This record gives sequence, C-alpha cells and structure tokens, in this order.
Amino acid sequence: MEVLKGIAVSPGIAIGEVFVVDDERRRIPRRTVPAAQVAAEKARAEQAVRDSVSELAALRDRTAGELGEEAAKIFAFHLGMLADRSLTGPLLAQIEREGVTAEFAVWTAMELLASRFAAMPDAAFRTKVDDVRDLSGRVLRHLIGEHASRLHTLRHRAVVVARDLTPSQAAAFDRGHVIGFVTEMGGRTSHTAIFARALGIPAVVGCAGVSAHVTDGAAIVIDGDEGTVVVDPTEEQLAAYQVRIERARLLRLSLAELATLPSVTRDGHRIELMGNIELPDEIPAVLEHGGEGVGLFRTEFLYLTSDHEPTEEEQYQAYASCVRQLAGRPLTVRTLDLGADKYTQAQQEEPERNPFLGCRSIRYCLQSLPMFKRQLRAILRASAQGPLKVMFPLITSTTEFRQARFILNDVMDDLEDEGIKFDRNVQVGMMVEVPSAAIMADAFAREADFFSIGTNDLVQYTLAVDRTNERVASLYNPGHPAVIRLIREVVRAAGRHDIPLSVCGEAAGETEHALLLIGLGVRTLSATSSSIPRLKRLVRSVELSQCERLAKKAAQLDSEVAVTGFLRDGARKIIPEAFDGRSADE
Ligand code: PEP
Ligand code: MG
Repeated sequence: MEVLKGIAVSPGIAIGEVFVVDDERRRIPRRTVPAAQVAAEKARAEQAVRDSVSELAALRDRTAGELGEEAAKIFAFHLGMLADRSLTGPLLAQIEREGVTAEFAVWTAMELLASRFAAMPDAAFRTKVDDVRDLSGRVLRHLIGEHASRLHTLRHRAVVVARDLTPSQAAAFDRGHVIGFVTEMGGRTSHTAIFARALGIPAVVGCAGVSAHVTDGAAIVIDGDEGTVVVDPTEEQLAAYQVRIERARLLRLSLAELATLPSVTRDGHRIELMGNIELPDEIPAVLEHGGEGVGLFRTEFLYLTSDHEPTEEEQYQAYASCVRQLAGRPLTVRTLDLGADKYTQAQQEEPERNPFLGCRSIRYCLQSLPMFKRQLRAILRASAQGPLKVMFPLITSTTEFRQARFILNDVMDDLEDEGIKFDRNVQVGMMVEVPSAAIMADAFAREADFFSIGTNDLVQYTLAVDRTNERVASLYNPGHPAVIRLIREVVRAAGRHDIPLSVCGEAAGETEHALLLIGLGVRTLSATSSSIPRLKRLVRSVELSQCERLAKKAAQLDSEVAVTGFLRDGARKIIPEAFDGRSADE
C-alpha cells in the first residue's frame, strides 16, 4: 500500500484498476498487454510507422520546395530508417514474442539503434543519435498523441494514470470506461481538470511520481476531495472509502431536491446560476442540476474532439442543438479559445515558446480569419433559433474588441446578402480575464453588451502563475487582494454602464469565493453543472448583507493568506453545512 498526495481537482472517489498512458518525452516503462490484444498492438505499431512515413514525406517535399533538395536530405535519412526492416522487424517480433506494448517496443528498438550510433568511432555517425531520438519521438507521438493514444484501446473500466493529459485527450475519454484519473502535472484550473469536473469523474493532478509507482492492472483509489491517491489499498481503506462514497451519494440526493427551487438569498435577492459546458451533450446535466441556462460554452472543445476543423454546418448543428435543448433559456457562446493548454493537432506542429502569452484565443482567430468567420457564421445562424449571446475571449484592448466586432458585422452582412436568417441584435460581450481588460473596464463597458469575468485566466495573468503548473499551484489564489480589487472595479464599471455581468471562472463554483463574489456585487455565477446544487444551497442559506460584509472586510486585507483564512472562517460561520467536514476548497 502506498499513499501519494496531489491536488484535488474533481470531487468524488474512484476505486478501480490502473491504466497507464505513457509520455513520448520520457523513458517508456515495460508494460505488457493480454494475449488477445497482441495483434492489435502490432497493428498500432505498424500504423504509427506508416503515419510517421507520410508525415516525413510531406515534410521532405515541403522542405525541398522551400529550401532545396540538400536541406530535405535529413528527412530522407529518417524515412530510410523507417523503411529498414532491420528496425521495424525486431520491434514487431518483440510485441509478438513478449506481448509488450507498441510504445515499449518502439522505444526499445530506437534506443538500441541510438546506442549503436553512439558507439561508432566516427564522430559523423555519433551525431545521428539525435536523429534517432527525434524519429523515436515522432513515432511515439503517433502512438501516444491525442488521436492515436493507447487510451483508445481501453476496453474496461479503469483509472487512467499519466504524467500529463491534454484537454483533447480528456475530451476523447471513453466515458463508459474512464472512471477517474491522476496525473503528475497540472493545476486546479487547467482545462483537463475542468473537463474532469464536467465529466463528473474524480481526478487528482500534480501527483509527483505517480506513473512510476504503478503498472497496468494495479488496484488504486483516487480521492478527488482530498487529493489523495492510494496504490494497492488495504481492505480497511477500501471499506472506509465505500462509506464515504455512500455518504456522498446521499448528499447528492439531498441537493438534487433543490433543483427546482428558486435561487434567492434568505432576504430575497436573486442570484442567477448558470452552467459552463464544453460540449452540447452536457446541457441535460446543467438542466437537471437546476442551471438556468449556459453562461459559458467553451466552443474550442468541438475542435479538440475532432481530427479536422469542424465545418460551418457541423458547428451550426452543435450550436443549434444547444439552443433547442435550452428551450428558451439563454446560451452564451464563447468564440474559439484555442492555444495555451488547448491545441488542435495542426496547431501543435509549431509549438509556442510561451503558450499562455502567445498566439492564442482571440489573437489566433484574428490571424485566422477564414476559420473565425466560419465559426461566426455558424453561431449567428443558430441565433435565429433562440436566445444566444456571442462572447469574445482574452480581449486585452479596445482595438481587439472592435476588430472582432467588425468581423462579426462583416459576417452579418454576408448572411444578410445571402438571405440567411440570424438575430441582428445579438448581444456581443467579452470575457474580462486579463488585467488590462479589468483596468480598462469603463472603456470596454461603453462598447460591450455584457461582461463575463474569467477568474481562471485573470488570476493567472494578475499573479503571473501558470494555471497548469503544479509547482506553483500554491501561489494560485482567486482570493489575492489584487484579484479582488480588479473584480470589484469590473463589477462597478458594469454597474455604472448598466450592462450585465457574470463570473464564469472556477472560483464562481467554489463556496467561499462564490460568497465573496456575491458580496462584491456579482448576481450571475456560471459554473460546472455539478456544482450548481451546492451553489443553490449556499445562496438560499445566506443573506446578501452577510456576503457584503464578508467582501468588504476581505477587500481590506493585504495578503492572500489573510484573505483565504478570513473567507474560510467567514464562510464556515455563515454556512457550516456547506463544508460537511471537508476542506473549504473541495
Ligand atoms: C477563465 O479564464 O476563467 C475562463 C472561464 O475561461 P477558460 O477557463 O476556458 O480559460
Ligand atoms: Mg480563460
């Protein structure tokens, strides 16, 4: 038995067996597959080699065209290695003979080749070691990467263990089979963590060394409330976890009774509770949990779950299906927010040096106009079907907002010329998720129809803390006084200009931060659907004046440590039952 500690990112407890997903940048451990899967494993290896060959051939042709035949020779060398049966033959034979994974066989064969080159007396040959490692990484990427990963071979219910998982990998999870996951990397607001909450599966991230501790089939418990991972649990531990699973089930049942009750404070103030979604099929869960609409549709997940850019028609069908399912309730569609930790296959070809500060989100859209326009056409067409708002992400300057709006108007003109129906008066708002937008909120409020504060990014950019990095996770805090001040100013600016405002970052779904936000004047919270019942209970248990007092005092404190302590104590006093003996930030 071994207990490991990580960051709790998606509540609940999963008990099951381990399924490891390797990382092509690392040493691949030796793992075996059941005898019945050996043929499939050989086929995966062959496919990865074929995919690498096509990729390299395309690169060779492009390089020859742009830089000449001499420069393209490097790819000829790589292609030559892959065509050499003395490399691929033994690796397929190893899978056949030993039943090892395709990843392990490729890695072993490539390492053997690299060591042969390294041992050559001629220095020119020794430089080939880098080429072999490069090639090894390429083939392994085809095996491990988003759309070909071993995850697709999962045929039983299991807990996924990986060094890291991208949001696209999480989005591609077979929902019937993945019952939880644990990774070594990641933070509470990384999109992989957010997606785990959307799927309602327990997850722990930032769990150092976990993938080295386990092998496929080992027994494991993931505790997504406490951030604990137990490998090979004892009988007593399992029994204790079963008791907690049952208690959580009863709590969920009692919260479910709140779904149809209004979201008003004890002194009669309405707080609107909306759901965040990544894909249209999450809408039933939003409604079941009592959500009054969708406050944030992260449309980039349509791109992340597909191996091609979704066509206008595919997107239109997705947006129109959301409008239909919501039956008159509001839907806020955020335009593409790709980049940073969310990449499509095509984007990943050219890695960013500094992804969170790079060509992401609205910047990427403004540089990829045909793609952006395709999405805007699809969104606008869906606006003819019911209430829908458009929201631009990561706006940092009024120029950027105006550019995005200009393009939207352009698309409207096109649709009009073509006689296609849409809502000419569609509301166009923006995310306030970088300090420049928060500081300039007054100027933006004159132009935007509404604001939605994205605390996930606002915290990251205000505090200079990468939201996906487990090593700085303890510095990531929505209660930091600087963040509170920015939010307060945005709320005031929205009030002065009389435009609607909501908060859709993860903080909106966290007990003590929700109280703080309400106290700061926020009247609409948008959160993962599973947190809506808890939020509703919170709203119905407090008086607005209590939240206001809490926020006023919190805003006077000068350190995030003081604010966090104060908020937790305050929240515990106002609503002790919300904590149920768990940590406040569960
Ligand atoms: C945010 O930044 O708070 C937000 C809601 O957007 P995302 O989490 O998708 O970056
Ligand atoms: Mg964001």
